[in-house]
Amino acid sequence: MVSIEPGNKKILIVEDEWKIARFLQIELGHENYQSTIEVNGQRAFDRIMQEAFDLILLDIMLPEMDGAEICKRVREVSNVPIIMVTARQSVEDRVRGLDSGADDYIVKPFAIQELLARIRAIFRKQASLHQVPDEKELRIKNLTLYPERFEAFINSQPIALTKKEYDLLLFLVLNKQIVLSRERILQEVWGYDYTGDTNTVDVFIRFLRAKIDEVCGEKYIYTVRGVGYVVKD
Ligand code: CA
Repeated sequence: MVSIEPGNKKILIVEDEWKIARFLQIELGHENYQSTIEVNGQRAFDRIMQEAFDLILLDIMLPEMDGAEICKRVREVSNVPIIMVTARQSVEDRVRGLDSGADDYIVKPFAIQELLARIRAIFRKQASLHQVPDEKELRIKNLTLYPERFEAFINSQPIALTKKEYDLLLFLVLNKQIVLSRERILQEVWGYDYTGDTNTVDVFIRFLRAKIDEVCGEKYIYTVRGVGYVVKD
């Protein structure tokens, strides 16, 4: 069972600017999170492979291995929550961060309260995902999900999904035939209150369509203009 007590949560701060790293560590300490700092990308990656963390704050520009690369490699073996911390603002970099499997991202300079809210949201979401279905499998047309194993298949072929893509697909499938607004999806899947950035939802819907609808030539995810999205039988 996942604990939501901050005091039990161990956070790795991967940040090569020492002043920022220390600032984050002090702020996290005020919230009763335990944290450690790594300033080198390669060393951070090695450490993530060896130690269990509850969450990783990952800067993008790092010596030896950049944040997107670390995230991609970590995702091959672990679902540990990752928040990308990036100085860049272009949509391309955001998408790259999310596509490499990050759960969320935040752009520098950010308000510490916003980062803390996003961390809480991830832990809340994690706790609530553990209450999701007892059903061993969920089926829609040729799509089958095994929520306990985080696996999805289309026509018996496995689909490679990032954790966030999986969460989104699962949410849509659990609510099939119900039209879900972008705001509601943001709230339920990303766990934060509506912040106006519903583009994130559209980006992830595109990812899912590319991996499901476009691959099998069959429509699963429907857009309801001006409202949101729905998965239909
Ligand atoms: Ca940096």
